Amino acid sequence: MVTIKSEHEVELMRKAGEILAKVHLELAQYVKAGISTYELDQHCEKIIRAHGCLPSFKGYGGFPGSACISINDEVVHGLPDKKKIIQEGDIVSVDTGVIYKGWQSDAARTHAVGQISEEAALLIERTRQSFFEGIKVAREGNHVNDIGRAIEDYIIPFGYGIVEDLVGHGIGQEMHEEPEVPNFTCRRRGIKLRKNMTLAVEPMINLGTWQVRDTESGWTYVTADGSLSAHYENTILITDGEPEVLSLTAEEKKLYNVR
Ligand code: MG
Repeated sequence: MVTIKSEHEVELMRKAGEILAKVHLELAQYVKAGISTYELDQHCEKIIRAHGCLPSFKGYGGFPGSACISINDEVVHGLPDKKKIIQEGDIVSVDTGVIYKGWQSDAARTHAVGQISEEAALLIERTRQSFFEGIKVAREGNHVNDIGRAIEDYIIPFGYGIVEDLVGHGIGQEMHEEPEVPNFTCRRRGIKLRKNMTLAVEPMINLGTWQVRDTESGWTYVTADGSLSAHYENTILITDGEPEVLSLTAEEKKLYNVR
């Protein structure tokens, strides 16, 4: 079911998003060579709880951590692991979510660890930009699949692969609500967007092929050709004008020129 939030519910989701934006910023300082993804996840949980929220990922479908931490060719759903140590030159995607008074927010960032290659830096930057290109059309009256078309139009000229096995989603009291939000062109337009819908838009972009495969863990997806993958996600609110990006700080909104 696609849920339309009341003004009060939107207010709670704004607060959840505001906190999640801070969680990502605070966590970023720990994304350094030498730390295990297990330790990073521990910091994430601590930060979320210090803000008076619950980590929405913890226990979700049996997920053991509070954050999915995916390194290099890992696309999403990387498992926190004591033996997995972040190295100089890695790109590290951190996807996490919070629950504030029953309302959720979901966001992901890909970080560079120390000196990374130029192609890796461009992948991160363009993956982030593809989110902002996508949400330009996330407006009342447009259709949900217009978002994916805009992301694809931006990404394809770079020769990157857009992951199709995983998509964005509605969000509210549940982390995953309807509708699905693909990051690529679909033949069908999907539902019409309405004011006070809330969506998690999350392009996952690969340096090589769009194809991914799952791994023995049963969780983590990796690129089929071993190429790098980046992820950028925010929770957004559909309004009667430009969408509001709920999971960015005021400074970030200014930087990226969004509401
Ligand atoms: Mg998500």
